Amino acid sequence: MSYLKEIDPEIYDAILKEVNRESDKLELIASENFVSEAVLEAAGGIMTNKYAEGYPGKRYYGGCEFVDIAEELARERAKKLFGCEHANVQPHSGSQANMAVYFTILEPGDKVMGLDLSHGGHLTHGHPINFSGKLFEFHGYQVEKETEVVDMDKLIALAKEIKPKLIVTGASAYPRILDFAKFREAADAVGAYLMVDIAHIAGLIAAGYHPSPIPYADFVTSTTHKTLRGPRGGMVMCKEKYAADLDRTVMPGIQGGPLMHIIAAKAVAFKEAMSDDFKDYQKRILENARTMSEELKARGYHIVSGGTDTHLFLMSFLDRDFSGKKVEKALDKAGITVNKNTVPFDTRKPFVTSGIRIGTPALTTRGMGVEEMKTIADFIDRAIINMKDDEELDKIRLEVKALCDKFPLYPGRKE
Ligand SMILES: *Cc1c(COP(=O)(O)O)cnc(C)c1O
Repeated sequence: MSYLKEIDPEIYDAILKEVNRESDKLELIASENFVSEAVLEAAGGIMTNKYAEGYPGKRYYGGCEFVDIAEELARERAKKLFGCEHANVQPHSGSQANMAVYFTILEPGDKVMGLDLSHGGHLTHGHPINFSGKLFEFHGYQVEKETEVVDMDKLIALAKEIKPKLIVTGASAYPRILDFAKFREAADAVGAYLMVDIAHIAGLIAAGYHPSPIPYADFVTSTTHKTLRGPRGGMVMCKEKYAADLDRTVMPGIQGGPLMHIIAAKAVAFKEAMSDDFKDYQKRILENARTMSEELKARGYHIVSGGTDTHLFLMSFLDRDFSGKKVEKALDKAGITVNKNTVPFDTRKPFVTSGIRIGTPALTTRGMGVEEMKTIADFIDRAIINMKDDEELDKIRLEVKALCDKFPLYPGRKE
């Protein structure tokens, strides 16, 4: 019996429709994933009831002995998984993890360098409409026009010119390996801190398929819900010497009570991420992204930077007479979910864009492999060619549904 169905049929219905949407469409949004039933159980559990301001063993509230177990496990597992000295698992989101680091080491007005949003960075890396860009003097760096990757020698030169107090790297839409040793060199050249935001690539790093920033960075921030496949949330890792300051910044600096049910679910996800299955999963994400990007490239599309080393890639329509927005809409009609995305040196507006971002973490979780990626690349190409033909898009949608049916998702939750 469902309590929710009884008490709130409207929300029950919305959730049911979301289950069906997730299972009947092809989810290619690079920042999304499907968590395990175990993670869902912890995230939907009764630890949501508990106030636990403070940290394990040092709380402002009584009755924390069991949530302490959950947070201690989450912290210890994070340390083991990433090999870091200290972990704070309380940030409610990736954005708050970044805010925590900025507020730990910066004063308002301090100079920071971050990758421009339209070149793959994140809002919290200094966008003028975000708190980061409003409070601190961010200077953007960019990818090169020819290669569409960051030129590290130029970055080091730029750092010497700007003399920032902090260099931020990590990205939301950058398909290539980031050279953390070079970023450290840039930071050292001007005595800056280095923060690496691994929100997207945390799973790849945990599994050893992307170099780890831990040896180089003063602070590493992440979300827990992207390739890492945990509940929606954030975390910060740092050297022991910053631990006390960081913890004080998270609470009471920027947050009140931690979400203990989510912290319990983070602990579960970290445990899952230590398994051989998870390692194999990350490897398949990469194979799938590479396969799909190559298939689309072979069909004449421009792939930013020529391909991918990660779980995502960008299709650029800068040279075409249609926008990312148009493609997103056509793909949606065909049952394929992506997000429009600006590409480097985009000439269209942020709500229109000249690209789409495609990622394989979610479909790989469903068990899809390289054969399915080839089929999906074909769906995408057909949908773009026929973007004005609703009948053809509907035909693709039925083929998409048939493919999805072969890879059941949350079978016990469907109705
Ligand atoms: C997703 C993302 C974030 C923000 O995460 P939220 O949980 O949505 O606040 C921060 N940095 C990068 C690089 C991201 O990709």
